[in-house]
Parts: sequence; C-alpha cells; structure tokens
Amino acid sequence: MINSSHPAADSGTAAHAVLRTLPRTGKIDWDGIRAIAAENGADPDETRMLCAMGAKLWNQVAPSFSDALTEVSLEYEIAPGVLLTGHADLIAVSGTSMRVGDWKTGRKDTNHSHQFKGYAAMALLATKDVQEATGTGLWVRDQEIENYTMSRADALAWKDSLVERVIDWDGVYHPGAQCKHCPRSHECEAANALVRRDIAALTDRSLLSRVECEMELMTDAEKVAIFQKADLVADYAARVREAVKKHVERHGDIVADGVRLTLDSQERRELDPLTAWPILEQLEFKDEDLARVMKLKISEIEQVIRERAPKGEKTHAVRKLGELLAASGAVTKTKTTNLKEKRA
Ligand code: SF4
Repeated sequence: MINSSHPAADSGTAAHAVLRTLPRTGKIDWDGIRAIAAENGADPDETRMLCAMGAKLWNQVAPSFSDALTEVSLEYEIAPGVLLTGHADLIAVSGTSMRVGDWKTGRKDTNHSHQFKGYAAMALLATKDVQEATGTGLWVRDQEIENYTMSRADALAWKDSLVERVIDWDGVYHPGAQCKHCPRSHECEAANALVRRDIAALTDRSLLSRVECEMELMTDAEKVAIFQKADLVADYAARVREAVKKHVERHGDIVADGVRLTLDSQERRELDPLTAWPILEQLEFKDEDLARVMKLKISEIEQVIRERAPKGEKTHAVRKLGELLAASGAVTKTKTTNLKEKRA
C-alpha cells in the first residue's frame, strides 16, 4: 500500500481546500475553516495556521497569478500510450508566458523540483501561443517560493529526459536521500546496500573523529553528505526501535543475555479547569498563583473571540485581540533551534 494518510497530510488537504478561493476572492474564509478541517479529518488549529501562512505567501506572488485558474487538470502524452497527468493548484497566463503554481504544506519530502517542472512543461506543451512557463512551488511552512522557468525547447528536453529515465528505464536503481520517503525502501536491494554503506561509513571511528575534531577541514559537500547519511541511518534506527516496541506491546517483555526490553510507562496528571477552579478559589489562590499554574492557548482564545464576534467582524475581532495582547506586553516569544535540511 503506497497511499497513506496522517494528520499533517489531512491538514494540508484542508488548507488546500481553503486556499483554493484565494485567487478569486483575495481573502481567506476564516469562518469556514473549522468545517473544512472537520470534513478532512484535520486539526483546525493546524489548518488555520497553514491558511494564515498561505495567505502571507500569496501576497508575494498574487500579481504574477492575476486571474489565475485553480485546480486545473493537466495531461500530456509523453510517449505512445503513456499519459502524464497532474493537477495544478494555479495557472495564470499573461501574454506569451504562463505561471503554474502548486501549494506545498508538508514538512518533509522537500524535493519536488520535477513535479514543478512537469506541471510547467505539461501546461506549456498543451498550448500553441505560450512560449515560456514557470513552475512555482509555494512552500507554505517555509515561506519560500521555488521557481523553474522553461522555454518550449526546455519543456521538450525535460519530457525526453523523463522518457529516457523512467519509461525506457535501464533497470538500474539510483538510491539516495529520497529513499527515506519511499514506501518500497524496505524491499529495495539498492536502498539496503546504500544503508549498509552509510552505516559502515558512520561507524568508522576515523570518520567520527574527523567530524568531531576536524569539521573545518571538510568541504561543504562532505558536510552535507555526512549529515544526510546520519539522517538516513537515524531514520532506519528509529524504525527498528518502533518495530521492537510494537513487538513488546503485542507479546510482552524480551529477555536475553541479562537484559530485559520492557515498556516503561509514566502517568501524567491533567486537571479539568472548570472542576479545579472553585477548589483553587476556596484555597484562596491569588492572581499571581493562578498565573503560575495556568497555561493559555492563544489559538483557543482566538477561537472564542471568533465565535463571539458577529458575522463579518470575526477577522477584525481576532486582529484587535492580537493588537491588544501585543500592546499589553502579554506576548513573549521563545525560540527553538534545530538543524534542518532545506532546499539551497
Ligand atoms: S528505495 Fe529503491 S525504489 Fe525507493 S527511491 Fe530508493 S532506490 Fe528507488
């Protein structure tokens, strides 16, 4: 089975549905988000956040997507009997050039360059008068815009390369960083060989000492390669840990060589605020005490404000709340820093 669903994908689907009306109306239907999220089994807060980020990104590209069509089916016969199909989120034509846009709301699988090129090529080759097309990836979470501009000759060259590499494939696998997202990786010999090579490389003590002590002497290409290897191996290690955990959950502890693999559970206590509130009052909790023990969720506060405000004034009410909170100094921001692989 290669099509799976998970909460991030559901939020992405819901955000796509909300963002669909943006080119026509120029605004987000904030009041409709909850229903669309529910229809798609998505988290409403995550969907709302993605829509807000999508609207911000849209402001940067809106002029070049003037009068854009949305949800356009594309198809092109790249070889006799082989139809390439796609679904572009946005297409706008201006004179002899066109722009094809695709919203991207995911966190992972960051290399979609051939999808953007493919959409641009299909849209361009389906016309007679348009001479140039730009495939644009609109990366919502990263607020990034990824462009590939193609002439008709470029589009034909891309199509020929696809025919050569995919349709007339010579049977040689090309494993790489993409394999960690591939649902076939568990049965792919080429990927297994790559992982074996990467594990051997990473467990070589001389490499470890180079990374820990002589990183400055490595080229940037070597640094990227070693990071990708570590990422791939960590991913496989996490899958092994998860499989062992599932086995213990199903069949009980595993004991061998003086070691026991067992489940270690910890209970977390949670308080129901409405039930606990009168007790805290009875115990004479002051404002400062309450502030210490309470955690306010800004997305929930915004939702309460939205529900209370009359129709047509909801967005304004939420904006006003943001202004009041910011002006009062109630908002503090914390920053977390992670090392991440992104498009160069
Ligand atoms: S795991 Fe195998 S089939 Fe999947 S992308 Fe990698 S090389 Fe290709």
